Amino acid sequence: MDLHCHLDLYPDYPALVLECERLNVWTLGVTTTPQAWPRNRDLADATKHVRAALGLHPQLVGERQHELRLWERYLPEARYIGEVGLDASPKYYASFEAQKAVFRSVLQACAAVGGRVITVHSVRSAQATLDLIEEELPADRGRVVMHWFSGSRSEADRAVALGCFFSVNTVMLDGERGRRLVSAIPRDRILTETDGPFTAIEQRAARPGDVANTVATLSRVLGASSDDVRAMIQENLRRLLAVSDARPR
Ligand code: MN
Repeated sequence: MDLHCHLDLYPDYPALVLECERLNVWTLGVTTTPQAWPRNRDLADATKHVRAALGLHPQLVGERQHELRLWERYLPEARYIGEVGLDASPKYYASFEAQKAVFRSVLQACAAVGGRVITVHSVRSAQATLDLIEEELPADRGRVVMHWFSGSRSEADRAVALGCFFSVNTVMLDGERGRRLVSAIPRDRILTETDGPFTAIEQRAARPGDVANTVATLSRVLGASSDDVRAMIQENLRRLLAVSDARPR
């Protein structure tokens, strides 16, 4: 499964959706602006394995903060949310206060409706991201997947305590630091992603079918067989999605 892929950023987007179907890869297609929601929703609705997520990317909040209204309008029909979160890297730091305001509103809205699965970006901002999750999203009101988590070990522990899952890609597993972090995460919180097209494999953009590589790498890092890793992440996805049973209040 690919818990975080920007399907609509590939030149052959509709064909890629069909490829996920053909390969039986459960894929969450994330979006960066709510303007992309209707088309993503319609393409995903016609499939068995592809889901669309309603997003407002932190790197776009500087120019698109006003799109929060549109995001809120679509929320009732979206079970999956993302890409949302915070990015404190130098290029986006000017909008950091606006990002925090938007992410807080997103979490509050998700808590109010309940049952959402939220894929969260937290570049150079794990602490602030976790602060907002802790303040605004009670664990029984929605479930967070920390995507490409690059925080510290203690921040990972804190995310675990808050009930977060982690979607892991091959780039994270390239370095010793990432491998150590992933080894420390409880196995029942680990999921896989590509973050395509922003990761590459053999000098081309990674596609959802490439999660097979992530499974192989994870099996080496965790010292488990590929079959066991596959069964583990399937069970983890099942538990992640059980959150939708939560009732709106
Ligand atoms: Mn992404």
